[in-house]
Amino acid sequence: MIAEIVSVGTELLMGQIVNTDAQFIAKHLAPLGLACRYQVTVGDNAGRLTEVVRAALSRADIVFFTGGLGPTDDDLTKETVAAALGLACVPFPEEVERLTRFFRDRGRVMTPNNLKQASFPESAILLPNPNGTAPGCILEAGGKAAVLLPGPPRELYPMFTDHVLPYLERRCNTHLYSRELRIFGMGESMLTYELRDLIERQTNPTIAPYAKTGEVTLRLTASCETDAEGQRLLSPLIEEITRRVGDRLYSTEGKPLHQVCAELLAASGRSLAVAESCTGGMVTSSLVSVPGCSDFLIEGCVTYSNDAKMRRLGVSEETLRAHTAVSRQCALEMARGIRQSAGADYGLAITGIAGPGGGTEAQPVGLVYIAVADAAGAEAVELHLYGDRDRIRRTATLHALDLLRRKCLNRTFVRDIL
Ligand code: ATP
Repeated sequence: MIAEIVSVGTELLMGQIVNTDAQFIAKHLAPLGLACRYQVTVGDNAGRLTEVVRAALSRADIVFFTGGLGPTDDDLTKETVAAALGLACVPFPEEVERLTRFFRDRGRVMTPNNLKQASFPESAILLPNPNGTAPGCILEAGGKAAVLLPGPPRELYPMFTDHVLPYLERRCNTHLYSRELRIFGMGESMLTYELRDLIERQTNPTIAPYAKTGEVTLRLTASCETDAEGQRLLSPLIEEITRRVGDRLYSTEGKPLHQVCAELLAASGRSLAVAESCTGGMVTSSLVSVPGCSDFLIEGCVTYSNDAKMRRLGVSEETLRAHTAVSRQCALEMARGIRQSAGADYGLAITGIAGPGGGTEAQPVGLVYIAVADAAGAEAVELHLYGDRDRIRRTATLHALDLLRRKCLNRTFVRDIL
């Protein structure tokens, strides 16, 4: 079957936003046996959009549209596609009610143009949008299908995964089995280089890498008859990737790093206490997001000032004077101090300069020390991170969790990732 992606939005044409929606959709098509022949981008202009819609529907079996589903006058996608398929839009009473409730619950006034979002061709299959007001929809006519999706990625991605993929599996008579591999300690380009031969010859299963701050996810998808067959198709690939990536692969089930740490701690019956400076509680907060963390987490302290580091953790005045608070020595004393005072099996500590101010030539912004202590002693790692304050703090959090994970597994810290 032939597919096409039409991205609607003047912002895309002007280069103000990157077309990540089209990339996201395109990556999911091959395992379904859908061949994407064209990707077209068009602005919010009725005439040009009509031309593009007609062309797409004439040469593809399934056309994916992104953007232009909102309430404003330049949101034209649904009306234009419906008209091209010879379908008229009518209000859906349950959608009118849902929108009315949505605005009432938020104390906002619903203007008449919002009702546009509650109108669809009678035969439309609606795609719920829990993250926004505009539902997506699938329109079928004359053997063709048009899949209309909202522009914002945080609305489109879950809608696509939860509702469009099952529809496509049915329509293409294919079953998909996916696994998400999560990797920390390698950038996307290094990872795709290491796996280049596997990525180049991929057909079934397919490999789709996604980069996030400081980590990379690989989504492996097999087209198959049953989940058992999918597992059979994926396992040699997972084995080969594990062989190449080693213990930088921390989950083959899409689990985040903090959850993996929480599970390791819970399984080992060991307890943890955390002392944070530049991350301001982010490490502790991520662990607390895992239900049942009280099984292992004793406490988390944000010891930001030198005074707090001395008073609360017992960091020595001499260390702070000779080496400053952003030093290997300070991180080691923080980790030992929090472990001892909390009576925990592990003490984890983070201290660094998140910027934008506060850096010097000797101690630049992005210099971070993380340390972990247990009964046998303590070890610290020096990191040189880049980016703005938020990125440095988030990356430092991931490094600290990875150090903890490695401690729990008795592995050494990988140094080529700084
Ligand atoms: P809304 O109901 O929020 O208006 P919409 O479906 O009408 O959604 P647009 O108005 O076209 O979508 O775009 C809204 C926002 O979604 C854009 O400002 C942009 O941030 C994001 N967006 C739109 N299209 C894309 C795309 N192809 N890739 C990535 N982001 C996009």
